[in-house]
Amino acid sequence: MIIENRKYKVIDYIRIPLKIAPMPVICMVLLRFFVAAIPSLLVLATTSFVDTAIDIFSNGRVIRIYSPLFAIMGLIGFSWISSILLAFVNLRLDLRMNEVMRLAVVKKRSRLAYKHIENNETWELITRIGKGPSEQMIKGLNNILNIMEYIVEITSILLLIAAHVWWVSIAIVGISVPLFALAFKSGKVDYEAFTDAEKYRRRADYLKEVLSSRENIEERALFGYTKAINKVWFDRYEIARKIEYEADKKIFIRTKTASIITTFLSMVIALVLIVPAGNRVITVGLYISLVTAAFNLVQKMSWELSFAMKEYSKNKMYLIDFSLFSRLEETQGSDELPDISIQEMPYESLEFINVHFTYPGTDRKILNGLSMRLEKGKAYAFVGKNGAGKTTITKLLTGLYDNYEGKILINGKDLRNFTQEQLKAYFSVVFQDFAKYYVTIKDNVILGNCGENHKIDEQKTLVENALDSMDMTESIKKMPKGIDTPLGKLMKDGIDLSGGQWQRVAIARNLISKAPIHILDEPTASLDPISESKVYELFRKVSKGKSTILITHRLGAARIADQILVVDDGVVAECGSHDELLQKNGIYSNMFKAQRSWYDE
Ligand code: ADP
Repeated sequence: MIIENRKYKVIDYIRIPLKIAPMPVICMVLLRFFVAAIPSLLVLATTSFVDTAIDIFSNGRVIRIYSPLFAIMGLIGFSWISSILLAFVNLRLDLRMNEVMRLAVVKKRSRLAYKHIENNETWELITRIGKGPSEQMIKGLNNILNIMEYIVEITSILLLIAAHVWWVSIAIVGISVPLFALAFKSGKVDYEAFTDAEKYRRRADYLKEVLSSRENIEERALFGYTKAINKVWFDRYEIARKIEYEADKKIFIRTKTASIITTFLSMVIALVLIVPAGNRVITVGLYISLVTAAFNLVQKMSWELSFAMKEYSKNKMYLIDFSLFSRLEETQGSDELPDISIQEMPYESLEFINVHFTYPGTDRKILNGLSMRLEKGKAYAFVGKNGAGKTTITKLLTGLYDNYEGKILINGKDLRNFTQEQLKAYFSVVFQDFAKYYVTIKDNVILGNCGENHKIDEQKTLVENALDSMDMTESIKKMPKGIDTPLGKLMKDGIDLSGGQWQRVAIARNLISKAPIHILDEPTASLDPISESKVYELFRKVSKGKSTILITHRLGAARIADQILVVDDGVVAECGSHDELLQKNGIYSNMFKAQRSWYDE
């Protein structure tokens, strides 16, 4: 299944499941129709049963009671079996829908343009849709089937009543219409409250993670922030709870008022039907079964149908979100493997010409006419204050954003002419918040080269070499299964690495890639300045002759580069070697003086 870019309508709650799992859906529809017919058939069977029972007292022939009795038993038995069958069919549908829909949503998510991931509003929409899309689809389908079932059931009972006392049916319909409108409105209020509360709940969920995850355990113990964060978590949770409570309260008061009216209506029906029963227009059996049916009916119309209508409008609102999600822009090729054939194109130069860039939805220019030219085989360092725009340059280079003005050229060719798959293969980046995969060390590293098919032993050698260049051989020897040791605490024999070791694994992942340009974007920011410099020196040593970009705000690490570019106010403010820049007595030299004490061992 592919999530099409279009407006989704209520009919899709039937269309999509029918396409994904036709048999279970058809079975469900048929079963629901039979189930809907049971109450009116019960009215007929009960009427016959009671009337026959009364007649037996005067005319005998007890045997006559068996056919209505068996009919009643058969109907009750069928209703019991059908609920088991429905549960089974639902399970089949659930499994199939889960398999297909979840995959479709994950696929769409992985193709989304990066700006939607970084934007709060769209990210909230994405998380909302990501929460059980198949469950929501099945909920929508069941809701429509419920409504259909109620309509068939209610219409047949109303017709039975109308056949004997027509105005009672009209009175029931007359009172029920405003109840539906009320229920429909309640559904909207409910979904809006849910959407509103979701913002706070998402923030509360994040704090819950901080308070309970294994990753934060040391800091939790050390800083003792549990109490303070607990309070913030509680406040956010409370806001979300109150929003939903207020909406529920309103809905509850409305429906309670409505139910007083309907209870009154049931009593009126019972009283009114006594007259035709007294006149023998209807039999005692019919009176009993009609009054019972009318009570059930009013109950159904005021509660179950109202609830179903409320759910209906809630489900409709979900479709608005789903349509918005389906229309979020995608980046072509973002979920495809890197196109490694581009690595054969010899790298000559990378150029930014007067590049201006503002993040979508904001109005502050981050790059303000930035120009620079980088050449093959050299190590460049981008330095500058935090927030100067260094990482933004990487995001543009790797095609995560393309709404920039000016030109970015690789070998004189416009970056926009490269596909996502090509850019993925052309740059290998270790970001500041690089991923820690809870798989084996080998798999952690080989991920850096996933466009290529290697034989198992080739893979092993490649990984071992990359890890060796990052001085990891000794520590890996001490691990129970060497490079096949699982990392993280997910698996029984998994081990945890230190922060520095994780960084080396991430850099090894970068090194294994045959990308022409390697970028380290402060993956070492959590290390102290001296350790950071050492990791960068190690990287420099193993990447000698390769084209690299090192990003850092700490100048000790930048010193090893052939050329240093100082990014300031969205432009390259200074450029040169470490010594040249020191002599300039400009931004770099001032920063260096300020940071000098960091490197006094
Ligand atoms: P550096 O890498 O130099 O520390 P960045 O390139 O990460 O700086 O960020 C430059 C500026 O852009 C910062 O002020 C940051 O807050 C802002 N910024 C980064 N990402 C986004 C985003 N997705 N939306 C809006 N502003 C952003």
